[in-house]
Amino acid sequence: MNDNLFDIIIIGAGPAGLTASIYARRASKEVLVLEALSYGGQIINTLDIENYPANPNISGFELATKMYQQAKNLGAIFKFEKAIEIIDNNGIKEVKTTKHSYFAKAVIIATGSENRKLGLDAEDKLIGRGISYCATCDGNFYKDKIVGVVGGGNTAIEDTLYLAKLVKKVYLIHRRDSFRADNATIKKLKENNNIEIIYNSIVTKLLYDKKLTGIEVTNKLDQSVKNIELDGLFVAVGRIPENQNFASLINLDENGYVIAKEDCHTNYPGIFVAGDNRTKELRQLVTATSDGAMAATEAVKYLNTL
Ligand SMILES: Cc1cc2nc3c(=O)[nH]c(=O)nc-3n(C[C@H](O)[C@H](O)[C@H](O)COP(=O)(O)OP(=O)(O)OC[C@H]3O[C@@H](n4cnc5c(N)ncnc54)[C@H](O)[C@@H]3O)c2cc1C
Repeated sequence: MNDNLFDIIIIGAGPAGLTASIYARRASKEVLVLEALSYGGQIINTLDIENYPANPNISGFELATKMYQQAKNLGAIFKFEKAIEIIDNNGIKEVKTTKHSYFAKAVIIATGSENRKLGLDAEDKLIGRGISYCATCDGNFYKDKIVGVVGGGNTAIEDTLYLAKLVKKVYLIHRRDSFRADNATIKKLKENNNIEIIYNSIVTKLLYDKKLTGIEVTNKLDQSVKNIELDGLFVAVGRIPENQNFASLINLDENGYVIAKEDCHTNYPGIFVAGDNRTKELRQLVTATSDGAMAATEAVKYLNTL
């Protein structure tokens, strides 16, 4: 077991996990980072990141590679294995992956979240070519253009109001006949004369050549179909946090996010959380890296009390 024993195991090598590994190594802790896919997380295929301070125009791949190299140079160990369970044996946490078991007194869960997709043909290949899941990240690329937002929850409404300030026109496509948001927010939507709400409708096809050119929308009540020309479509139909594997020990909210405040403590002693997979208001790179720093600092404090 000794070869597989570390001070801190970090699950996920996205921006949160990588930052946590940098902080934990700088505190001289033995660190293992487990990653199911490749380092970098959600940003790895993003062409332009414009809102990460000091890096005004950087690709996701370059930013992630810099973080990964920094963590490796500091001595973090990386294994590309998916964590499937955490078991506590009298304070020693065993993290089981699809291949092995690893042990540590502290664990940081930094598994991020995935965008819920529409499930339409070509959706994946149009990401970054007209399809986006993040208005705050990509809204700026659509200045004075025509965009759509799909969804009916708070995120869809906030995205629509945010985009309306930047773009020429926003179509908001909602599958029901009303919104659950408060009246003041709905009033704001209706007061904006560059927002058109299309109720009772779903997006049934993405229209494209090399980029998205529009969408086909079907009205659920009368089955009528129409095409709308668009430069961009923002999909805001929810996110899927990657926490289910740890739900036997960790408290999750009704949407599957780990319940934690800014200190990144979970309900379970010695298990911390960092990044998009915890309850929070803003899911962005800066908040993920901030969480990574906080979770590692708290994990080090926890180890020092043992
Ligand atoms: C297309 C796109 C563009 C974006 N652009 C921007 C932008 O311009 N600016 C900005 O601030 N934010 C942007 N974001 C949001 C930003 O990428 C996220 O907020 C950030 O990546 C969250 O980091 P994270 O480390 O918490 O999670 P993630 O980036 O989701 O990383 C989690 C990692 O954990 C791994 N993992 C999951 N489960 C397991 C498991 N069981 N075992 C091992 N590993 C596991 C995943 O493979 C992944 O690598 C964008 C997001 C997307 C999708």
